[in-house]
Amino acid sequence: MAVITIDGPAGAGKSTIAKELAKSLGFTYLDTGAMYRAVALAAKRRGISADDEAALDAMLEGIRLGFEDGRILLDGEDVSGQIRTRQIDFMSSDVSRHPVVRRHLTRLQRALAQGGNIVAEGRDMGTVVFPNADVKFYLTASPEVRAKRRQEQLALTGVNVPFDKILEEIKARDRADSSRKEAPLKRPEKSIKIDTSDLTIEEVFGMLLTQIKNLIG
Ligand code: C5P
Repeated sequence: MAVITIDGPAGAGKSTIAKELAKSLGFTYLDTGAMYRAVALAAKRRGISADDEAALDAMLEGIRLGFEDGRILLDGEDVSGQIRTRQIDFMSSDVSRHPVVRRHLTRLQRALAQGGNIVAEGRDMGTVVFPNADVKFYLTASPEVRAKRRQEQLALTGVNVPFDKILEEIKARDRADSSRKEAPLKRPEKSIKIDTSDLTIEEVFGMLLTQIKNLIG
């Protein structure tokens, strides 16, 4: 079993790269951000506040999360589209502060990885969930570049938001993710750091693949 982790802030290019890598290596892709997003969506549907740790805890026992063909399923329903809204951007960051939510999802993430070869993407993959991963990456990019990418991504779904607003939101989410007590976003020890600001997806992909080949053959 081989585990490759990719951590970093929103918009660093993690998802695109992790998906491509998993495909090319024949590994399973584990999108842990989608899991936090699905928890946020489940809470929103039930009218549970992202601040209510006890209610979130009780809710987690009653929901089922899983993946099928790269889609995220919440109680069997494909919610892959519904979790990619700006409201869920923030709500997922809010629910992810709570230790009960993190512990629940950490357990689930380890269970999903059991015995397989995986590319796991998120904020705490190399630090907390898979500290003994075979190869760890930390992808980053300037806030401006990340905001631009996010703006383009939203535009593809028909949502047009001013650049300054997106930049402000990206910085707010960075602050929240990096300053929380439990499993904050930080560069894992022994991780390979790549700044993707001035690189194309193909260039980043090539760099990661070279490192993986060197480290695990
Ligand atoms: O990566 P993505 O933007 O989909 O993640 C949504 C939110 O989920 C992040 O802002 C972060 O707060 C949370 N998250 C986390 N730990 C992970 C993955 C995501 O706290 N491993």
